[in-house]
Amino acid sequence: MSKELEESHHRPSKKRKKGRGTMADRFFPNEMPDFVEETEGAAATGSSLTRLLSLPYPKLSDKLLKAGLDLKEKIVMETWIRTGQRVTDYTLYTGALGTAFLLFKSYQVTKNQRDLSLCAEIIKACDTASKGLPNRFVTFICGRAGVCALGAVVSVHLQDKDMANHYLTSFNEITMPSTVPNELLYGRAGYLWACSFLNKHIGKDTIHPDKMGPLVKEIIRDGRRLSNEGRSPLMYEWHGKKYWGAAHGLTGIMHVLMDIELKQDEKEDVKGTLNYMIQNRFPSGNYPSSEGSSDDRLVHWCHGAPGVSLTMAKAYEVFKEDRFLHAASNAAEVVWNRGLLKRVGICHGISGNAYTFLSLYRQTANKEYLYRAKAFTCFLLDRGIELIAEGILHSGDRPFSLFEGQAGMAYLFLDMANPAESGFPGYEL
Ligand SMILES: [Zn+2]
Repeated sequence: MSKELEESHHRPSKKRKKGRGTMADRFFPNEMPDFVEETEGAAATGSSLTRLLSLPYPKLSDKLLKAGLDLKEKIVMETWIRTGQRVTDYTLYTGALGTAFLLFKSYQVTKNQRDLSLCAEIIKACDTASKGLPNRFVTFICGRAGVCALGAVVSVHLQDKDMANHYLTSFNEITMPSTVPNELLYGRAGYLWACSFLNKHIGKDTIHPDKMGPLVKEIIRDGRRLSNEGRSPLMYEWHGKKYWGAAHGLTGIMHVLMDIELKQDEKEDVKGTLNYMIQNRFPSGNYPSSEGSSDDRLVHWCHGAPGVSLTMAKAYEVFKEDRFLHAASNAAEVVWNRGLLKRVGICHGISGNAYTFLSLYRQTANKEYLYRAKAFTCFLLDRGIELIAEGILHSGDRPFSLFEGQAGMAYLFLDMANPAESGFPGYEL
């Protein structure tokens, strides 16, 4: 498997151009102040960015909501209206389901029924486009589980029982090929995340533990099989490489397991694996993208500190042990210094990295984290569209997609309008 795959895209089959670049090419130096106090009344001086950062939160929240809703309209236009409502890529990651997920977020924030209806219409087209395809693609982010799970939840909000039943039946008909990997993007963990999503939004045991249990068992069994004696209790492989990140590796798999009720010995293995990662991180505080790698470059959700930080914050919430909070906070420091990426998306861009601080803010109520989330978000609000137009900030091959493109930025703006309800799409339940 090529090194470039690690860099940004996450497809096993396509060869990509070389583009490693130097560290300085990868991110903007973060020259934003360590903290800016919010001021009431008289207009603050300084750059437009500083003025945004000093706005009282309700005022900024209004601005972000408006920008998020405007951008959502643009995303719908580019990915749905202009394409003649034809679905060529149905996935949440780069396709039409990402637009539907953005519309669902918008509905959650504003309760606008038009967003919900349009969301249902797009999911229906995704359902048709993904039906009958080879069952290799089974996850929430890159497969049919996402279509059926989101379809069911949206149908419940529309109070359409028949449609909800249709999607739940379709969800239950998804079968797991024996060769499926364990990771979040293409594997068992990504299917389990969809189960937890249904149980959260529709009700406990919507997907019965009897259905999830065997998959959890397989994940634990495979992880123990690759575990290296005395080191990490669990380890996994994708295309011959032992990845650590959220998309293909340990981080994402541990994250999903923490949303599920585990047996005591399984819990201990999850904790042990997270501890192993903390002990073997780079001296810089960043995390390797794969086992044994000494290449301290990537500060992405998919590979590196941002994804790990979200998962360590989750571990703190679940296990209530301070060392996980410290790990999350140390990883967030790396994101603050090296995470203002020259990409816009949530998978490996500024929008996704902002969630690092949001998640710590939700855990700690420390306003310094909210400030840092604000700083990354306001950087995009202030300069994002201009930098994209200048070709300095990249939005991938699918510039309006949720995971690589501007839909991710729109999603972040809407989440920042109400940080208490925020969550990294497809990762934080
Ligand atoms: Zn990525």
